[in-house]
Amino acid sequence: MDELVRVRFAPSPTGKLHFGSARTALFNYLFAKKFGGKFVLRIEDSDKVRSTPESEIDILEGLSWLGLSWDEGPMSDGRYGPYRQSERAEIYKEFIDRMAESKDAYYCFCSQEELAEEREKQEKAHQMPKYSGKCRGLSESDIAGLTKEGKKPAIRFKVSDEVIEFDDLIKGPMKFDMSLFGDFVIVGSDGNPLFLLTNLIDDSLMKISHVLRAEDHLSNTPKQLLLFKALGLMAPEYGHLPLILNPDKSKISKRKNPASLTEDFRDKGYLPEAMINFMALLGWHPANDKEIFSLGDLETEFSLDKVSKSPAIFDIQRLDYINGYYIRQKKIGDLANLCLPFMEKCNPAAFIEAQAKPEYLLQAVSMVQERMKRLDEICELTHYFFGNDLNYDAELLVPKNAKKSDIANYLKAGLAELQEIEIFGPDNLEKTLIGTVAKLKITNGELLWPIRVALTGEKASPGVFELLSVLGKERSLKRIQDAITKLEK
Ligand code: GLU
Repeated sequence: MDELVRVRFAPSPTGKLHFGSARTALFNYLFAKKFGGKFVLRIEDSDKVRSTPESEIDILEGLSWLGLSWDEGPMSDGRYGPYRQSERAEIYKEFIDRMAESKDAYYCFCSQEELAEEREKQEKAHQMPKYSGKCRGLSESDIAGLTKEGKKPAIRFKVSDEVIEFDDLIKGPMKFDMSLFGDFVIVGSDGNPLFLLTNLIDDSLMKISHVLRAEDHLSNTPKQLLLFKALGLMAPEYGHLPLILNPDKSKISKRKNPASLTEDFRDKGYLPEAMINFMALLGWHPANDKEIFSLGDLETEFSLDKVSKSPAIFDIQRLDYINGYYIRQKKIGDLANLCLPFMEKCNPAAFIEAQAKPEYLLQAVSMVQERMKRLDEICELTHYFFGNDLNYDAELLVPKNAKKSDIANYLKAGLAELQEIEIFGPDNLEKTLIGTVAKLKITNGELLWPIRVALTGEKASPGVFELLSVLGKERSLKRIQDAITKLEK
């Protein structure tokens, strides 16, 4: 027997997996888990021109990276496969034939040019664009004649003037006046069935119980409900997920926003657990103020009645905050391993050194873990642990109201003391340098600030004693010497 809950994610592989679509996948996955149901992945590649194998690979990769494993789908066939629409032509054929013969649909010979002209006229007259129904009344002999001329017809579904009502699982009661919709094409003039038709045939044959999809599909639902009725098939329940908007309420657009899950999020150093957590909160409002949810937590806590009807706001700062949280939870070895591929890209020399000295890498990563928000910040945050030359202005070495020449002298004194230290550990270093400060009768800042800049070239960095100790004697002394040279130039 089939499970009571069977949901599906049905992406069209016409580009990289959009993070909004990934949210749709997540909500379906969670809904299935919550009710012990099945999560089906169906690749809707019926649009042969726009679908590409690369896009499908990106979708599968993105879902796998997030850990959203599907129970049935390409490569894990279930009872209702194949799960790629391009492999289901035989299945659709029967339905196409049925619609061609049915009184609910008719052949339409209108060309794209004619349809465009009709639309233009309607727009000029400030009317809603709607197909005029010109081919509705074609007789058998008209059709035979046009076919003889070599014209290839589309199949259009007849929309009757009725009101379609349904209870949306998220938005509540919905009502559509179908007299505003024109008759719509379900099979193109090339003989290929269109999205509205294949999508519902598959939902029906794959025994999908609930369809959770993006709000942009809301107006497709009454059309599909009419088609279900015409084909004598049982419709699933529908729920439409709220739109995702920018903080200024503008629509998320591919040009303005990072959109690809793999390219703009995974490859920028966001962790899958952070993406899951962040995407769940795009529309779903848990009862309490809790903000951190693992996939496991969500599987039990998620519920549709807490999904908002109004748009969700995409706030990248919230994502950075959540990502930072998960980065801080990582064991240092795991975090270092996650950072390495980023380092390989942004600083190949550092990558080579880090690979040769894994312990050193661990120390460097542990010193910046607290501050890291994304894995791709690894180079920026740890560059001074690697290589020799730092690039900074001499002015940075000089605290406010201090003189360059004095700072050079303090650094020389510090350098001389550091040279004597055998065990370059934080405690020894602190004792020695605080002693130097006392001898010079200066403030801590007058010596420790320039040393810290000499070691890192940065204004902000971890504590100076830990830094010296991790960088080691040789590198530290060289950097301090370089700073003195810079000051004396
Ligand atoms: N292939 C459609 C899309 O990617 C699926 C719509 C649906 O979930 O019904 O938008």
